Amino acid sequence: MKRLSLAVVSLAAMALVHAACLGAVENGPAEGNAMNQLAERYVKLVLALGQHDADYVDAYYGPPEWRKEAEKAKPALAQIDADAATLERSLASGAPATDADEIVRLRHTYLVKQVSALRTRVAMLSGRKLTFDEESKALYDAMAPTNDPATFERIVEELGKRLPGSGSVLERYDAFRSRFVIPRERLAATFKAAIDGCRSRTLEHVTLPPGESFTVEYVTNKSWSGYNWYQGQYKSLIQVNTDLPIYVDRAIDLACHEGYPGHHVYNVLLEKNLVRDRGWVEFSVYPLFSPQSLIAEGTANYGIDVAFPTEERVAFERSTIFPAAGLDPARAGEYYDILALVDRLSYAGNEAARRYINGQLDAKGAANWLERYALYSPPRAAQRVRFMDQYRSYVINYNLGKDMVKRYVESQGGTASNASKRWEVFEQLLSSPRLPSGLQ
Ligand SMILES: [Zn+2]
Repeated sequence: MKRLSLAVVSLAAMALVHAACLGAVENGPAEGNAMNQLAERYVKLVLALGQHDADYVDAYYGPPEWRKEAEKAKPALAQIDADAATLERSLASGAPATDADEIVRLRHTYLVKQVSALRTRVAMLSGRKLTFDEESKALYDAMAPTNDPATFERIVEELGKRLPGSGSVLERYDAFRSRFVIPRERLAATFKAAIDGCRSRTLEHVTLPPGESFTVEYVTNKSWSGYNWYQGQYKSLIQVNTDLPIYVDRAIDLACHEGYPGHHVYNVLLEKNLVRDRGWVEFSVYPLFSPQSLIAEGTANYGIDVAFPTEERVAFERSTIFPAAGLDPARAGEYYDILALVDRLSYAGNEAARRYINGQLDAKGAANWLERYALYSPPRAAQRVRFMDQYRSYVINYNLGKDMVKRYVESQGGTASNASKRWEVFEQLLSSPRLPSGLQ
């Protein structure tokens, strides 16, 4: 770990030197340098807040001495908030001209929102109580729509007609799904096949810098099912949680979401295009509770469809993934038909979290809600409630994020019938500091 950090110093330093040159081209050397200084203050505030909140700094590969400074100084929350307020005022007076390049304007509005989210997280850690919607708006720059339980009941009823056997819909869904579990001894080979498929499809459309790669680890006792820990230097560590059975659809889902063209590619493109090429140091840190997460999760989930449009996915599952997992390929179509229906219950998960965070449901009630309206099995519902305890309104970033990214990409002409345009718009989004509220 130590050696890796040292290697990153020199690259970050090079990127900063390069920034000065680029500033001259984009918006005058004085303005470029001024923004870089504000960006540095932001990075240091994120690192300082990370001292109070172990989940906050999801990735950091900027100058290691900045992290050491934060560890040593460990400023109090009130001090972090006061410094962030000062930074907000500096940013307000440093807005770029309205005719500046779009990416320069995006950079500025992005930083304003990221700082505002940081102040919200400070307030929460200081004891301020927010409703689910207030929190998601302030942290992720978006609010999930509310849905009547009757909407989900109708979908569950429809599923009931499609699933064989006796018992409740949840019991029948569990029984159906249990025939599509990847056996433990086949996990690594199945994931390898999925990663190869996701990577080769991504590389047909996106140029990645040489040397990018990730490693996969299998872990237990986590509230999430998979996690990408970006290390900088175009490397990721991807962890897969094996606490619960892993169904065959998770191979492509996780390989795309965590790897290609999801989180790994997103982080690699930010490092390449913004940190190294432009010297924008603010992108060397990723604060988890911030608008960046809606873009990260939304693109990672939508990226599954971009890499594998439905029919191509089922074909690939049949030819490659099901055989790797030792499952009957003839059943792939039937499996994905049912999953498409279950996917329409994703907003039921948001509803459970909203009611739980707002105090209308307790932990047991939230788990029951997930079982009843989102068809989570009891152990999976319990795991999800632990996720809600840890990450709260973060849950909206997955499904709402995906829908917002999809709408944006399609509005730019990247529709299912125009795959190359879809990849192009998707890649641009992964390479730019666009906010959730800017996905219009
Ligand atoms: Zn994710």
